[in-house]
Amino acid sequence: MVTSFANRRYLTGFPSSAGMVLVTEQASYFLTDFRYFEKACDVVKSCKVILLTSLAKDLLPLLKKQGVDTLFVETDTVSLATFDRWCQLFEGVALQQDGKMTNLLAALRSVKSAEEIQHIQAAQALTDETFAYILPRIAAGRSEIDVMLDMEFFMRRQGSEGVAFDFVVVSGQNSSLPHGVPTHKLIQKGDFVTMDFGAVVNGYRSDMTRTVGVGFLTDQQKQVYNTVLDAKTIAMAAIRSGVMCKDIDKIARNHIDQAGYAGCFGHGLGHSVGIEIHEGPSFNTRCETLLQPGMVITVEPGIYLEGKYGVRIEDMIAVTETGCENLTHSPDELIIV
Ligand code: ZN
Ligand code: ZN
Repeated sequence: MVTSFANRRYLTGFPSSAGMVLVTEQASYFLTDFRYFEKACDVVKSCKVILLTSLAKDLLPLLKKQGVDTLFVETDTVSLATFDRWCQLFEGVALQQDGKMTNLLAALRSVKSAEEIQHIQAAQALTDETFAYILPRIAAGRSEIDVMLDMEFFMRRQGSEGVAFDFVVVSGQNSSLPHGVPTHKLIQKGDFVTMDFGAVVNGYRSDMTRTVGVGFLTDQQKQVYNTVLDAKTIAMAAIRSGVMCKDIDKIARNHIDQAGYAGCFGHGLGHSVGIEIHEGPSFNTRCETLLQPGMVITVEPGIYLEGKYGVRIEDMIAVTETGCENLTHSPDELIIV
């Protein structure tokens, strides 16, 4: 029984705020309430759509009819309160909380179909367009929030269904915060401006970061930028089917450490993207998943110098048999506006 938004969306292709997918040996069902029922009947082809008024009235008889004695649930998203309620309601049915179904769905979703990759590419195309739009509009005297809103309005007018996540636009000292929140701070000459943003198309997301200089940059700022860029380039060159995720992270991390910035890259190198902005597998120091063709993962090294500034550059790639396809087409060399 699948109840989380992302997995329901994945299995039915239909976005809804409530409902559940039930898969038994014989059949599969999408149970949803009155608000979604009519549209779901029209759109959902992968399972039989059932009007849900209450679990006792609509789900329980279905379990009995199908002879279900064991029910697997999503251990990563079901709350303890809900789990307790289900245990009482589904008398005679053993609820499994071993993580088996959660892992199965994560494995399915980690390898994208050609159609899913097309949606992600369309989202990334909007993201690239937004970068081209904002670049000549970044200037000393504009606030971070102003730039962020400009990007968001443009992207949504161009067709994005929403924002892939809350955009990060941080400048100067704020750019040393990897997930800093845009403020009313005015951008100044000599600042780095880091923008982390993405679009949504057909429910699928994109994710890109670019850092640009404003007016002028010091030699050290340029050196930090090029160290991050080289880390991205060499990590991407090593990506191909069969390589372990943590080994890709290590390549970028070693490069940054050896350039004299050990300890300044405090997050993982990347994460998968799809219906959700953060999916598995990830490029970090722990992930032992082997890369497979069709995985879509970001490569986003960064250097953050506390109290001074930071640089992050993020592309999104699709793994292939022999390498990877870069889905990001915005320029990544240092730009000073
Ligand atoms: Zn990002
Ligand atoms: Zn990212």
